[in-house]
Amino acid sequence: MEDGRVDQTSRIVVIGAGQAGFSACAKLRALGHMGSITLIGDENHPPYQRPPLSKGFLLGETTEERLYFRPPSFYDEKGIELRLSSTVEAIDRSAHKVMIADGSEVTYDRLLLATGARPRLLPPEIGGELRGVFYVRNLADITSMTHCFRQAQRVLIIGGGYIGLEAAAVSSKLGLEVTLIEASDRILQRVASPETSQFFRELHAFHGVTMLEGVGIRRLAGEGSHVHAAELSDGSVRPVDFVIVGIGVHPNVELAREAGVDVDNGIVVDADCRTSDPHIFAAGDCASFPWKEGRIRLESVGNAIDQGEAAAKAMLGESSGYVAKPWFWSDQFDVKLQIAGLSTGYDNVATRHGAGNAISYWYYRGDELLAVDAMNDPRVYMAAKRMIEAGKSPPSAVVADTTVDLKSLL
Ligand code: FAD
Ligand code: NAP
Repeated sequence: MEDGRVDQTSRIVVIGAGQAGFSACAKLRALGHMGSITLIGDENHPPYQRPPLSKGFLLGETTEERLYFRPPSFYDEKGIELRLSSTVEAIDRSAHKVMIADGSEVTYDRLLLATGARPRLLPPEIGGELRGVFYVRNLADITSMTHCFRQAQRVLIIGGGYIGLEAAAVSSKLGLEVTLIEASDRILQRVASPETSQFFRELHAFHGVTMLEGVGIRRLAGEGSHVHAAELSDGSVRPVDFVIVGIGVHPNVELAREAGVDVDNGIVVDADCRTSDPHIFAAGDCASFPWKEGRIRLESVGNAIDQGEAAAKAMLGESSGYVAKPWFWSDQFDVKLQIAGLSTGYDNVATRHGAGNAISYWYYRGDELLAVDAMNDPRVYMAAKRMIEAGKSPPSAVVADTTVDLKSLL
């Protein structure tokens, strides 16, 4: 089979049974691909949604089965061979094979890397390996910590990104005494404006969360092997019963790098999700793709779905020309934050007040609208998303004027 011309019986192998891997496989069948599809994942659950892990599932409001994208029978029905609890250890590019930890090998005509990302760990020398220190990435992480929510009183949350804030909201709702520390000057520093940080600071304070910004962790101390105190960078020592760490992720690029595929912050792909090897593609949290004048790696459900589907098309020889339309959301207490666009590079922010506690912040670079954070305002979010995707930039004074109907600007 030659590049560009893909026959319907080609063998497609996908490494990583998460959002991007699942979306690619489902799309391949929807596009009529008749050849074999093998989806290999190292977890022992059928592909599932991660967002509820730091929201409803952590709160105990939803069952594991409800997290699955599709029931297990879907894979049989669609002729997708799902190999769970299987870690791919290496790729042999010249033989077009992937090697699995159990010694088996699978041959491909096209290979998709959808390996996602893994949490940054706290180093062992500062207590990162003590019992009672948890991360929030997969179902096994949540299962291992649920007993703490029933038995413990004091939780320390390290990191004021989305994981930390969502875990803080859940912990507080469950009646725990919550302290959250953020090493930067403010929570959400990397992804949001000071206005949005202030909104969530006040929300958490209202619910009794102690939030310490500009404070990092110096050391976790154990009683036996279990964490029992935290020494913070401000010199204070706090008793803790358990710790949740949300200090960012590393993209899983090692398989690609060891196989000699180009890597630069993520697995480098072009607008067709193709890596430096024309038979290998990448999508989702692990992929770095062209964006404006440079490259970007996005960590979001929207990107994993769209890019997974774009990779499916491209693996069948159709140019997909993937252009990301970034959107995100977060649920904390009674607030739904919805984000359209990417705020990177903004230099001014306009505020629009909505009804009740609804508010939105509009990020501009000069006159160009880049992104909007909408809190409890789904209509504003939808209008803003359409504007950003259409490249429209209404003046900031206009969007701030609540007498202006945003739909009239579309
Ligand atoms: P993943 O979902 O991480 O899937 C990759 C899979 O590949 C994993 O199962 C991994 O174990 C497996 N794998 C890796 N290497 C191998 C190997 N060698 N062999 C076999 N399998 C391998 N995004 C939002 O937009 N909104 C949200 O509200 C939101 N909430 C989130 C909450 C949590 C707790 C987390 C962890 C993430 C959240 N995200 C959210 C981010 C979103 O879930 C990710 O961006 C998305 O899951 C990325 O999909 P992916 O397929 O690229 O990677
Ligand atoms: P994140 O968004 O990168 O946030 C981590 C935060 O922790 C950053 O503010 C970081 O500050 C801070 N930090 C780093 N080291 C620290 C330390 N030693 N002490 C205290 N604070 C420290 O990552 P995350 O919250 O861990 O989330 C992980 C992944 O899950 C991301 O891909 C995220 O997008 C995804 N996720 C998304 C959602 C959502 O979209 N609603 C929800 C949950 C998870 P610096 O920036 O200064 O390093």
